Amino acid sequence: MLKDEDRIFTNLYGMHDRTLAGAKKRGHWDGTAGIIAKGRDWIIDEMKASGLRGRGGAGFPTGLKWSFMPKESDGRPAYLVINADESEPATCKDREIMRHDPHTLIEGALIASFAMNAHASYIYIRGEYIREREALQAAIDECYDAGLLGKNAAGSGWDFDLYLHHGAGAYICGEETALLESLEGKKGMPRMKPPFPAGSGLYGCPTTVNNVESIAVAPTILRRGATWFSGFGRKNNAGTKLMALTGHVNTPSVFEEEMSLSVREIIEKHGGGIRGGWDNLKAIIPGGASCPVLPKDKLEDAIFDFDWMRENKSSFGTGCMIVMDNSVDVVKAVWRLSSFFKHESCGQCTPCREGTGWMMRVMNRLVTGEAEVEEIDMLLDVTKQVEGHTICALGDAAAWPIQGLIRHFREEIEDRIKAKKTGRMGAMAAE
Ligand code: SF4
Repeated sequence: MLKDEDRIFTNLYGMHDRTLAGAKKRGHWDGTAGIIAKGRDWIIDEMKASGLRGRGGAGFPTGLKWSFMPKESDGRPAYLVINADESEPATCKDREIMRHDPHTLIEGALIASFAMNAHASYIYIRGEYIREREALQAAIDECYDAGLLGKNAAGSGWDFDLYLHHGAGAYICGEETALLESLEGKKGMPRMKPPFPAGSGLYGCPTTVNNVESIAVAPTILRRGATWFSGFGRKNNAGTKLMALTGHVNTPSVFEEEMSLSVREIIEKHGGGIRGGWDNLKAIIPGGASCPVLPKDKLEDAIFDFDWMRENKSSFGTGCMIVMDNSVDVVKAVWRLSSFFKHESCGQCTPCREGTGWMMRVMNRLVTGEAEVEEIDMLLDVTKQVEGHTICALGDAAAWPIQGLIRHFREEIEDRIKAKKTGRMGAMAAE
């Protein structure tokens, strides 16, 4: 269990002073110029050694991503873009950073931008995050007044400007290239890759897009050392992480914890246990709507980290878990996600535009039981045709929850179809 002295986020619940003075008292903005003086290579090597994997869901190694940026400019500017779109259902961790501990992010933006040769960084914040934007902007303004941003930022010799851009509230703008399009003032539609943003991103210039938490943890990692950070969690799953519990736990919360604890420990310690006790657990969605559901029998010894979740055909995602007890109609829960992805599809590629609607309509019938048993395999087949055949990962995100449902709850779906045919539907819920 994480000790208080090892927490990176010391004002997660807004109990302390979130202004610059308060942040400094808690150890932020301490020796920032000294970190920058160690140079780009040192910063990137240290980030690589820390083992930090991107906190936005995909888990790509952060230091490695930074190293993709060109070392020498070819005349074009470089940019750091911070993804604060956080629109994944049940994921609500970055908002706590932005409204209560914003200086972690701003200091991280300066250091990371320096490491990537960027004199400007943009934070793209979700449309619905009004108060978070206000808190973050207030913190940015304070930093300009204190000389921590702008010319010779924090006395480092590096000129650096930080801009906060407010999105309009579309889920797809959390996809990095759609975010860049939106930032450029266009419709938020994902771009084909390659070219990757490190070669041609914002305004056609070298760009790295990072999640809020990935940037906000960087200063503390660099201050305390890569070895300190990599000492938490299993190999390849290093560090502490902001996680969340929602759904049928007794105390839903956002919290910082070390990686690789057991799912049960996380739920018992931070969620106060499952409503009605552990045996009342039905399933979890580990880290965001696109992560395939895992049933209770898989969870007895489950480890909450990237590798365990991948090995068990799910995904750690953002680490914000949805917990479902036995009162949940899991078919309907996954139908709800299908309907979400259908709604959020930008529509530019056919497998996603048509497939998400098609999958949702079949799911609709599975919920009511008005389907044929053979349709389950047909649906599975369609998810495979969507997965991996689209411009961005939304197609995969729509396919995976359904695949997880069929993998673990096929019997429940079949029972419902049979019950409908034999008129026993009243007893099966879901009307
Ligand atoms: Fe748009 Fe869906 Fe294609 Fe992504 S996968 S680009 S959301 S249509």
